[in-house]
Amino acid sequence: MLTDQDRIFTNIYGMADRSLKGAQSRGAWDGTADIIGKGRDWIINEVKASGLRGRGGAGFPTGLKWSFMPKESDGRPSYLVVNADESEPGTCKDREIMRHDPHLFIEGCLIASFAMNANTCYIYIRGEYIREREAMQIAIDEAYDAGLLGKNACGSGWDMDIYLHHGAGAYICGEETALLESLEGRKGMPRLKPPFPANTGLYGAPTTVNNVESIAVVPTILRRGGAWFAGFGRENNAGTKLFAISGHVENPCVVEEAMSIPLQELLEKHCGGVRGGWKNLKTVIPGGSSVRCLPHTICDEAIMDFDWLRGQGSGLGTAAVIVMDQSTDIIKAIWRLSKFYKHESCGQCTPCREGTGWMMRVMDRLVTGDAEVEEIDMLLDVTKQVEGHTICALGDAAAWPIQGLIQHYRDEIEDRIKHKRTGRVSAVAAE
Ligand code: NAD
Ligand code: SF4
Repeated sequence: MLTDQDRIFTNIYGMADRSLKGAQSRGAWDGTADIIGKGRDWIINEVKASGLRGRGGAGFPTGLKWSFMPKESDGRPSYLVVNADESEPGTCKDREIMRHDPHLFIEGCLIASFAMNANTCYIYIRGEYIREREAMQIAIDEAYDAGLLGKNACGSGWDMDIYLHHGAGAYICGEETALLESLEGRKGMPRLKPPFPANTGLYGAPTTVNNVESIAVVPTILRRGGAWFAGFGRENNAGTKLFAISGHVENPCVVEEAMSIPLQELLEKHCGGVRGGWKNLKTVIPGGSSVRCLPHTICDEAIMDFDWLRGQGSGLGTAAVIVMDQSTDIIKAIWRLSKFYKHESCGQCTPCREGTGWMMRVMDRLVTGDAEVEEIDMLLDVTKQVEGHTICALGDAAAWPIQGLIQHYRDEIEDRIKHKRTGRVSAVAAE
C-alpha cells in the first residue's frame, strides 16, 4: 500500500510551487553531488537493485540498459536522450511530471548522464506539449542559474548540458530510433535493431534513450535506496508507478500508486469507480492503445503490472488505463485506433504500410456491419501477417487491439454484421 509519504511525485496536481525553490523544499536536488560522488557503478547497481523497469511502455530493466553503455570513451561521446514525445493514446503521465515536477526530472537527467559517462542530454519533447516545454525550459534555466547544470554541475565535478528539442507531431518519433533520426534532422523513420542505441545511437555514438518517468524517479530511488523502491509491487514488477486513467470513470486522473495494485482498487480508490458501478464495466485497455483489451471477466481479477497483464495477452505498456462502460461501441472504439495507426505508420515497411490500411478498411465495414462474417477471420489473419513482421513495434501495436477485439467480442461483431446495425449499442439495448 502506497502512503502519501512514499510518493515520489509530490506535486503531480500542480498544487505546490514548481520552481526550483519549491522543488527543493520538497526534496529535489538534495545531496545530488553526494550521489554522484558515490560513482557510476554504485548508481547503476542501485538502479538495478531497485528493479526499475522502463516506464515508456516496453518495461526493459533500466539499470541493465545503463550498463550497456561503454564505461570508458572510445573517442566517441556518449549521449543520454530522454523520450518526452509522449503520444500513446490515453497517456499523459510524463506531461504531468514536466508541467509540475520538472526539477526532479532534470536532476534525474544529471545523475543518469553521469552514470553513463554522457556530458550531453537531449530531451525530445512532443511538439504539442507547449506549456510543458515552457515549464521545462524555465526549470532548465533556473538549474543553470543556480549552478546545478553546466560546468561542474552542482559542485559534482561533472560537466553536463541539457538541450530541449521540440518534436513536430509525429507519433512515430516516439519510437526511439525514429526519435534519433529526427533529432539528427532527418525524417523520423525507425532504424533496424540491432544495433541498439547503446552501441550505435545518436550521431553513431553510444546513446541511451529513456522515458521521462524512468529518469525522474531515479534521484528519489538513490536517496531512499534501491531496496525501498523494490519493496513495492510483486517480484520483477517493482516500484511505484504513474497511472493515467481515462474514459468512463467518475474522476479521470493521473495517480502514483504501487505497482501490482488490483485494477478495481485503482479505479475505486482514485477515480470514484466506473461510471454506473463496477458491474457497468465493459472493457479496459490497460496500457495505452498498443495492447489487447481486457473484458470485464478478466478485469475482476486484473493486477496492474507487466507480468500479470502480459500473461493475459495484454500489457502494462504506458499504464494508461482506458476504461469503457457498457454503453461503449467497442467495435467503433477499436476502429478508431486502427485509423490512428494507419495514419501514423511511417510507410517504410510493407506489412505495416499495407497492413494498417487493410485492417482499417475491414474495420470500416465491421463498424457499420456491412461485411461478411468470414471477414472476421480474414482480418485476424491480416493482423498475424503484420505482427512480428515489421521494423518497429507500430505494426504490433496496430494488430494487437484488433486481435483483442476479435478474441473477446467476436459475438458482438457477428451480431452487428447479422443485423447490419450501426452506431452505439447501449447496455439496455444490448439486453
Ligand atoms: P523494445 O522492447 O524494442 O525496447 C525497449 C528498450 O530496451 C529500448 O530502449 C531498446 O533499445 C532496449 N533494448 C531492448 N533489447 C535490447 C538489447 N538486446 N540490447 C540493448 N538494448 C535493448 O521496445 P520499444 O519498441 O522501444 O517500445 C515499445 C513500447 O513502447 C510499447 O510497449 C509501447 O507500450 C510503448 N509506446 C510508448 C509510447 C509513449 O507515448 N510513451 C508511444 C508508443 C509506444
Ligand atoms: Fe514504419 Fe510501420 Fe515499419 Fe514501424 S512498422 S518502421 S511505423 S512502416
